Amino acid sequence: MSTGHRFSGFILKHPALISSLLVAGLVVGVRQAGGLQPWELLTYDEMLRLRPAQDPDPRLLVVTVTEQDIQEQQRWPLSDQVIARLLERLQQYRPRTIGLGIYRDISHPPGQSDLLKQLQAPNLIAIRLLGDAAKDGVPAPPGMAPDRVGFSDIVLDPDAVVRRNFLFATSEGKRFYSFSLRLSLHYLADQHLTVTPIAQKALQIGERVFPTLDSHAGGYQTLDDRGYQIMLNYRSGKAAARQVTLGDVLHGRIDPAWVKDKLVLIGTTAPSVKDLFVTPFSLSDDKNPEMGGVLVHAQKVSQILGILLDGQSVIWYWPQPIEIAWIWIWALLGGILGWRLRHPAWLGLSVAIGGISLFGICLGIFLLQAGWISFVAPMSAFIGSSIAILAYRLLYNALHDELTGLPNRTLFINQVQWAINRGRQLNLLKQKQLGCAPSWAVLSLGLDSFKAINDSFGPHRADELLIAIAKRLKSGLKSGDHLARVGGDEFAILLPQIRDIDEVAHLADYLQKQIKQPFVLQGQEVFTSTSVGIVLNELDRYLQPEDVLRDAQTAMNQAKASGKARYQVFMPGMRVQVMTRLQLETDLRRAIERQEFQLHYQPVVSLLTGKIAGFEALLRWQNPQRGFVHPMEFISVAEETDLIIPIGQWVIEEACRQMQIWQHRFPQLAPLVVSVNLSSKQFAQANLVEQIEQTLRQTGLNGHNLKLEITESIAMTDVETTIALLMRLKALDLQLSIDDFGTGYSSLSYLHRFPTDTIKVDRSFVSRMGSEDKDSHIVQTVIMLGHNLGMDIVAEGVETTEQLAQLRTLKCEYGQGYLFSKPLPSEAIEQLLTMDPQW
Ligand code: C2E
Ligand code: CA
Ligand code: CA
Repeated sequence: MSTGHRFSGFILKHPALISSLLVAGLVVGVRQAGGLQPWELLTYDEMLRLRPAQDPDPRLLVVTVTEQDIQEQQRWPLSDQVIARLLERLQQYRPRTIGLGIYRDISHPPGQSDLLKQLQAPNLIAIRLLGDAAKDGVPAPPGMAPDRVGFSDIVLDPDAVVRRNFLFATSEGKRFYSFSLRLSLHYLADQHLTVTPIAQKALQIGERVFPTLDSHAGGYQTLDDRGYQIMLNYRSGKAAARQVTLGDVLHGRIDPAWVKDKLVLIGTTAPSVKDLFVTPFSLSDDKNPEMGGVLVHAQKVSQILGILLDGQSVIWYWPQPIEIAWIWIWALLGGILGWRLRHPAWLGLSVAIGGISLFGICLGIFLLQAGWISFVAPMSAFIGSSIAILAYRLLYNALHDELTGLPNRTLFINQVQWAINRGRQLNLLKQKQLGCAPSWAVLSLGLDSFKAINDSFGPHRADELLIAIAKRLKSGLKSGDHLARVGGDEFAILLPQIRDIDEVAHLADYLQKQIKQPFVLQGQEVFTSTSVGIVLNELDRYLQPEDVLRDAQTAMNQAKASGKARYQVFMPGMRVQVMTRLQLETDLRRAIERQEFQLHYQPVVSLLTGKIAGFEALLRWQNPQRGFVHPMEFISVAEETDLIIPIGQWVIEEACRQMQIWQHRFPQLAPLVVSVNLSSKQFAQANLVEQIEQTLRQTGLNGHNLKLEITESIAMTDVETTIALLMRLKALDLQLSIDDFGTGYSSLSYLHRFPTDTIKVDRSFVSRMGSEDKDSHIVQTVIMLGHNLGMDIVAEGVETTEQLAQLRTLKCEYGQGYLFSKPLPSEAIEQLLTMDPQW
């Protein structure tokens, strides 16, 4: 399994590499089987046609027997006499070599003796056909010395096109020269060139080596590579040399200079003789008719002379391994393009550009270097690989979250299904063997304050945060564990193999700690936390993966409801609780209009004078069915549902209204300050400042008598925005206070920039003050810090006289807690104010 995982991980990381290997393998397979050969040959022809044509070879003259000549002579084959007369005529002009490309093995009287005499000329080369004379071979004319005969066989490709120059062959120790090679050697007789075959691989003529074709040469795959063959490098699509007709010669209509010291080829081009060949030029072009055999021979002779005399190149090709590497490189290129370019139009455009470039490279090498590089195979690999990647990516996108790249809900459900099935199978096996049940677990992780972050930072940075969270979660997991993003701010983890619940709890704990560490987004620190729901597979309870995920989410919501940043293992009873929560939400919605809310006030006492300095307004909900609902229970629900906004607005209005009444009723008391708690949602509200300003105006309360409490974590989520907003609030002459100080992750470097008046030391520190030394030091440190920053300190949760005494020694300005008073309804506070107590 771990190797399987490593493998799939490898594929995910290198999809372009994998697809290129697969596609290249496929293309090479098809190519090897010959499937691409026809297309490669067509491309070759195209490149040949794109090459600029050369002038006719000045060393050659072709005497053709045309249809008109045959009509003039009124017979075919021509009589020996006519041929003899032709040869005689030509010899008068002193050609260096004459090639008689017409079979003369049997006589066609009259004139046999004249012809035999002409055939004795030492500069005359005749033809024969290879093979057994008794069967398909055709012998040379009688009395010809073997070194004045060449075979006239022309090799054809499977599509009957002439692309190769068959130079030479050996059989049973005998050597066979082609007509064109014989002619060339005779023409260059004064150079005394020797022909040396080198193990079917090359033919050495004098100093020049002609590497010969093998069965995989260039675009060929199944070439009959017997003998010594090279690609026929056509001089041009038309004639390779000057052409005259039999009639021209017989009637003296030629310039002797055309013949003198030239290599003269004689043969027929008359269509009725059917000695015609398809060339790459005639293939797709009506203006280029099929080529007479003698003209093909002229092309071949011209090529051989060009190589031997002009230093022309023999068309070369790459060995197999390099061709395969070439194909793979293009497959890889296609794969990379397919992976990188997200838009199909861009991909199409780049594939087109890539294809044109590839053809350009092949054509360039062919024209400039005379190399034949395969085009169709790399092109197919290029397109194939980019399409394969595109298909893979479409599939991948369907199963993955675009933002984080993690598996999405669909894929995760599949993975859980797989774990369920595997768990069941293993249990069947193991119960027989060991009796112990291996198990899996699913964790659902919900971010606690994501909506607030989204509201205050904007969706763009919230996305960045999600990516960072995904990374952090991933780094906390083992290689076999599956992490997925199953909702906007929800992740899920499948642990396919766990030992016990402790292992899972440990992991949940670890991941929560990881997420609690600040994230740095564009230079700013952001804090968040996560609640985790856990489903353990016990007794193979689950059949449907959807049920697993639902239960994990239920447990996660439960964890959220019971105070966030914790984990909760799912228990079947929880589903009922979910229903309860839903009911709570519904009731909460009605609570405002039904006026079920009430404010209680808890005195804040000046430790210097011992007198009441103000109150903290605390929300109470009295529901006819539920009775008293504790704020801990409903505030988080109100925040999640945004109901906190209208509720919070009501709290501010009510507190201001009440405060203004008390100010009037107790003018003898020092000005009182009412503190109101502000939730993160309200803090992110666009019109918060305007709203408070309006409330102050309507109630007539002085801004200085209202204090807003924001918790440390809200203040630190987005420091710059917080500071800007706090400044605007300060402009209303409000007081500001940091609540629950010490429980979040305040960055001390920012603290001095907050225009806050007060720090509230969290109850947890105060309550442990008397007993543990460490905590009293913390309180002391916070008090000193606050004083240094010019802020007052309120100690929360003062319950004992010892705590009070200690706080007084530490010069803490204010105290709040049960020692002085519990939060009380307004009537009770009024009685208290009348008494004007002193502690
Ligand atoms: P908080 O802002 O930390 O409020 C102080 C809480 O500590 C109050 O609980 C108060 O009753 C309790 N408390 C005060 N003195 C003592 C003490 O000596 N010992 C102990 N053990 N507890 C003490 P309460 O009223 O239940 O409020 C709980 C939380 O609910 C508040 O914590 C605040 O975060 C939230 N809350 C209450 N009213 C509002 C409101 O109007 N708006 C918002 N956004 N949140 C509110
Ligand atoms: Ca508070
Ligand atoms: Ca507090």
